[in-house]
Amino acid sequence: MSRTPRIVIVGGGIGGLTAALALERRGAEVIVCEQSPMHSEIGAGINLTPNAVKAFRALGVDRAVEAIGWASEFQLIRSWKSGRYISRIRRSDFREKFGAPNLTLHRADLLDVLRRALQTTDIRLGKRCIGVDPGDDVKRGAAVQFADGSAIEADLVVGADGIHSAVRKSLFGADTPRFTGCICWRGMAPIEAVPSDINTEDGTMWMGPHGHVVHYRVRRGELLNIVAHIDSDAWTEESWTHECDVSEVTATYARWHRDLTRLYPCSTRWYKWALYDRDPLQRWSKGRVTLLGDSAHAMLPYLAQGAGMAIEDGCVLAAMVARRPDDLGAALSAYERVRAPRTTMAVLGSRARAKENHLASPWARLKRDVKFALRDRFGGGRRGDTTTFQVGWLYGYDVAKEMG
Ligand SMILES: Cc1cc2nc3c(=O)[nH]c(=O)nc-3n(C[C@H](O)[C@H](O)[C@H](O)COP(=O)(O)OP(=O)(O)OC[C@H]3O[C@@H](n4cnc5c(N)ncnc54)[C@H](O)[C@@H]3O)c2cc1C
Repeated sequence: MSRTPRIVIVGGGIGGLTAALALERRGAEVIVCEQSPMHSEIGAGINLTPNAVKAFRALGVDRAVEAIGWASEFQLIRSWKSGRYISRIRRSDFREKFGAPNLTLHRADLLDVLRRALQTTDIRLGKRCIGVDPGDDVKRGAAVQFADGSAIEADLVVGADGIHSAVRKSLFGADTPRFTGCICWRGMAPIEAVPSDINTEDGTMWMGPHGHVVHYRVRRGELLNIVAHIDSDAWTEESWTHECDVSEVTATYARWHRDLTRLYPCSTRWYKWALYDRDPLQRWSKGRVTLLGDSAHAMLPYLAQGAGMAIEDGCVLAAMVARRPDDLGAALSAYERVRAPRTTMAVLGSRARAKENHLASPWARLKRDVKFALRDRFGGGRRGDTTTFQVGWLYGYDVAKEMG
């Protein structure tokens, strides 16, 4: 195919919009079809580790992303009850160590940056995909069917439609995500509502029996994002928009450190949802259709990599399509070959993290805390990895090397 490929992306979330940007920068004609009738995003924060920020650099939007984020000096891990510091990593070194900073952002701000960066992409709202015809990878293109009865044909279709992907279901049949036995609550507080003696400048994780709590600033430091995780089977609804009363959160963490019990009421709204992930897929592509982001590799948020992996996916997909515009089947195979091993490691690594974050036995916790403290002090992890969670392989990666 020597003409410009026409690419339909289903889903206008972080993964879909990043892929659109990467593809339009390579000259593709891109249409994004988003089910939501208007631009909206839940009021939640997101942590972008250096690998994700490097991917944005490769697309020329890292400065815009930095301008709306927050870069804390330290990443703290504290003990749930005493507040003792288990680990204190200097995050401000990440630029030098891993080639980019760690940033925390409001999701709506990030989507706004991506939308503003798009020049030629046609974003169509209120378009809910109900199925795809994968075409074949030699002669015939693919087609997307929508709930409003319309259809769009394309040289390539990308399913960036999240964990309950209609595109994936259409390609590979129905399956169910795995309930992880963990639920969480999230709140967002204006920084002036937070007592000034509580350290909110540093990204902080509190580790305790059966749970952990994370808080970090977003929107240049104006807001504090709080997410509290606990092992529980008592709630299995996955919706991100189920509002609940702050009393549920304060009751669950009543025995935790006073800073936390004082933080919760600073957010006027609380939401709760159950966490799901999926076993890694054997295949992502069929004919002229492929998957990207959570539709391909939904993972627990414990390594803060779900969005990061979706962002990297978009960069690699665009590079492979640009390399093989005349053989999109081969381009999709190359994309999957590059992305599947890394994203599988992130899915499985996030599951393993869940166990260690929520250890119930005091002895097991002590052993873990000593291990983290030793790593902080002396480094000495795998292959000289000095990060507390041994994630140098994630942070050090630069997707630009795959992009040629
Ligand atoms: C508690 C929690 C904390 C997290 N923290 C982090 C973090 O700190 N760092 C990080 O990197 N990741 C984090 N993640 C993961 C991250 O949010 C996701 O991995 C990321 O949003 C995936 O992006 P996506 O574009 O693939 O999917 P989504 O963000 O789910 O976007 C999918 C889009 O597709 C649309 N859509 C769905 N179905 C259809 C359809 N049929 N037709 C048309 N459109 C459709 C949706 O409306 C949505 O806009 C966290 C997740 C959770 C649950």
